[in-house]
Amino acid sequence: MEGTVELTEKDAGATSPVGEPFADGYDGDIDKVLVTREQLQAKLRELGDQITRDYRGRDVLLVAVLKGAFMVMADLARHIHLPVDFDFMAVASYGAATQTSGVVRILKDLDRDIEGRHVLLVEDIVDSGLTLNYLLKNLRGRRPATLEVCALLQKKGIQRVALDLRYVGFEIPPDFVVGYGLDYAEKFRNLPYIATLKPEAYADPA
Ligand code: 5GP
Repeated sequence: MEGTVELTEKDAGATSPVGEPFADGYDGDIDKVLVTREQLQAKLRELGDQITRDYRGRDVLLVAVLKGAFMVMADLARHIHLPVDFDFMAVASYGAATQTSGVVRILKDLDRDIEGRHVLLVEDIVDSGLTLNYLLKNLRGRRPATLEVCALLQKKGIQRVALDLRYVGFEIPPDFVVGYGLDYAEKFRNLPYIATLKPEAYADPA
């Protein structure tokens, strides 16, 4: 993966209010940090600059897929120097399990019509690609002027459908990851970096 190094916990860039490294409150559940806070922020700045250049003169509608993409959306948007609107969708593709079912259900749809809009779909992670494939088909049917994807993470070599991703932050190995919006059993979303979990963390998700 581009620019990836294996890092230890204390390289993650997290500090507690009293300045101690890696006081994340998750009591040793984190295995490896794959993308640090600094790498994430630098990449989002780079993507934001690129989007600003590509969409100059156009109004962009940023659509994030909840819940995972809320952090990417918030940080990315601050690096887009254009007028943007926001909308959100929520879909169910995973429960507490760590493998996709391929079944996508819309739990929350967009608030507004997107016909004629320049839509940029913001995704947290593309794994099998089935969720995104479904969403793109669904959104295309609503006749936006343009429809592109910005995905923070793409798992290498395991997409089950061909997808055209205009902006990709990082390619990562096909392991289950948490942090920066991504959860396991609703936990770990608040970590400011992307990490894998120790096997013990899966034993008791409570
Ligand atoms: P796909 O349909 O591409 O297999 O999966 C897409 C969705 O599954 C993502 O938007 C995300 O919600 C979830 N997902 C896929 N891989 C991971 C992962 O490694 N960690 C977490 N927390 N969620 C994942």
